[in-house]
This record gives sequence, C-alpha cells and structure tokens, in this order.
Amino acid sequence: MSSPNVFDPKHYPELDSGPRVLLGPGPSMVHPRVLRAMAAPVIGHLDPYFLQLMDRTQDLLRYVFQTKNQLTIPISGTGSAAMEAAVANFIEPGDPVLVCINGYFGHRLTDMIQRYGGEISTIHRSWGEVFTPKEVKEALTAHQAKVVAIVHAETSTGAKQPLGDIAKVVHDQGGILIVDAVTSLGGIPVSVDEVGIDVCYSGTQKCLSVPPGLGPITVSPKAEEKLSERKTIVANWYLDLSMVQKYWGTERTYHHTAPISANYALYEGLRVIAEEGLENRWQRHRQNAELLWEGLEDLDLSLHVPMKFRLEPLTTVRIPDGVDDLKVRKQLLNDYNIEIAGGLGELKGKVWRIGLMGYSSRAENVLLLLTALERILSKQ
Ligand SMILES: *Cc1c(COP(=O)(O)O)cnc(C)c1O
Repeated sequence: MSSPNVFDPKHYPELDSGPRVLLGPGPSMVHPRVLRAMAAPVIGHLDPYFLQLMDRTQDLLRYVFQTKNQLTIPISGTGSAAMEAAVANFIEPGDPVLVCINGYFGHRLTDMIQRYGGEISTIHRSWGEVFTPKEVKEALTAHQAKVVAIVHAETSTGAKQPLGDIAKVVHDQGGILIVDAVTSLGGIPVSVDEVGIDVCYSGTQKCLSVPPGLGPITVSPKAEEKLSERKTIVANWYLDLSMVQKYWGTERTYHHTAPISANYALYEGLRVIAEEGLENRWQRHRQNAELLWEGLEDLDLSLHVPMKFRLEPLTTVRIPDGVDDLKVRKQLLNDYNIEIAGGLGELKGKVWRIGLMGYSSRAENVLLLLTALERILSKQ
C-alpha cells in the first residue's frame, strides 16, 4: 500500500461495474432513464420543487399500489426498512400476531416482530408452498391475533401467495393484514384496495427497477386509526410513520434529510411504469416468465413450484444431480456477465433463483440465459 497522502490510481482504479445482466433476486437492472435522473443536481429537501416532486411521487405510488390510501410514502431505506416500519408502527408490545412462514422472509418478519415485543404465533408451509385461507383462519382464531403478516411473493422460494380470501378472513376477525410485496409490486397485480391489504410495503430494486435505497409503504385508513390509538410510542425513531408523515404530508416538517437522488430515481422509475401501464407490465412479466419456464423445461430442468402458484418475477429451478451449483453460477457471471442466485435456507444447494424483474424482464435476457445455461450444462 502507498502512504495515505500519495494517491496511486493503480490501487484505486476508476469505478467500472461492467455490463452485468441482472437475473437474480434483486437488484434488477435499472432503466437508463432512471440512471440519468439520478445524475440531476441535488437540491434541498424543503425546496419547493422537491416538495412538488414528493406529491407527484406519492400519486404515482398510489397508482402502482392501486390504492387511494393517503398515507403512501417511500421509506428511506431498503425493503427491509419498509418491513421494519410496518412492524414497528402496527405492532405494540404484547399484541398477538400471526406470521405465516413459508420461506426466508417470513422468518425475517418473525425476527423483527419479536424485537418489537409482539406475541407471535406462526404457521408453516414448506418452501415453495402457499397457505390456504382456512388454515390462516384457524390459526388466527386460536391465537386471537390482531395482526396477520404474510409474504405475497416469496423471493426465496418462487411461490406466489393468493391474498384475496385471506384478507377477508383477517377482516372478519377484526384484524389487520400486513403484506410483504417487495418482489410483487410492479411485476404482478398487488391491488391494495381491491384485495383489502391494510399495510403493504415494497422495495425499489425488484420489479420497480430502481436502485436499492427506498421502501414504498401504503397504509389503509383502518390501520392509520390503529396507529393513532397506540398506547405506546413507536420504538423506532427513524421509522415512526406519524413523524415521517409530517414531512410527506401537508406540514412539511423536517424529520430526516430525504435521500434526494434516490427519490429522483423513484420518481422517474414510477413514470416509466405509468407510461407502460400496469396491465401491460404485468403481461410482459407473465410472457417472459413463460418463455423462461418453457426454455428451462426444454433443457430437461424441473421447476420447483407448480404452475398454479409460480411467481412470474422469480423462478426457482432445481439443480440437477451431479451439477456443481457454484461452478455454474461462476461461469454464468465470468463468461456471460449474467447474475443468477443460489437457494437460501431449506433450498440452499437445491435450486437456482432466476429473477425477471422490471427492466430485466426482457425476451433477449431470457434467451441469453437459456443459451448460456445450455452450453454450460452440456459441458458438466
Ligand atoms: C428483497 C426482499 C426483502 C428485503 O428487501 P431489501 O431491499 O433487501 O432490504 C423483503 N422481502 C422480500 C420478499 C424480498 O424479496
């Protein structure tokens, strides 16, 4: 190493992240328009222009969430920050909570809820399966749960959880439903109002195709009421929605400095989505997923989740016996610039996870991956 005051560019070369094709569980590829938006000059977080941009961003977020919810904002932080905002604000110490666990992110929810003092009960399904409204209802009744938390799109398993009847069951018992839509928002229908989701959160770097950094969240009037009736203070200062809302709402009170460039990126990313139209976007995700599924089956690979519950933005495919998981992924990255991911938890070493999210969901990417995989597998 050279001494600290002699800069040697050999040791610190210019940034060059290369032309990666991102087909993993996130981040997805970022639309060029979004990257350009991030290069715009940074202005103040209380600049009238920025305040206007915040209003427009909230409108576009309501469109993407398909909701009229007033309280709809991008949390500063990634999807996990939005998850933590949902937990910290809507669960009080001692609240009975039901968590549905069928993958990695159900466990993360449980971990967070425990830290905020929720009285947890859980139901489980193996990784790749989904829950029925009946089993949620039974567990909910037995535990007298006030809050149910469930993952819509389990990025660790590739399973898509139907939500409509579950929301009904939760509301019939007077509870509120928290839904993790990190991998579904902008890729498959989330429809917050129609389904009846009370608290729904997401992240920017999956199907919204914006760099990681913000976690959009939307809150129903009923959940807002629950928030205003809390007996205890929210145990997380940064994520306290009643305070954050004073900045995003009409009062415009400083809470923390909004990440300006990340918000530029989100705004442009949402414009790209609105321009394409949600229905067209869902259809594109479906078409490219089907192209991938057919192609993988043509390579004699088997898909982990049955068609009915298969998630368009994230496919899990079983690694054939005798094939070296790591070696294949390394070759994809080194020889073809393609990123896919291995399995997590129960599925570690058993599946590959292939993401077709947002701007990554394009036929040329599917065909490139299939060709590369075919060549690599034929040599193993
Ligand atoms: C990615 C993901 C998260 C966490 O988001 P980060 O942006 O990594 O913090 C949460 N839930 C699901 C389902 C995810 O796919």
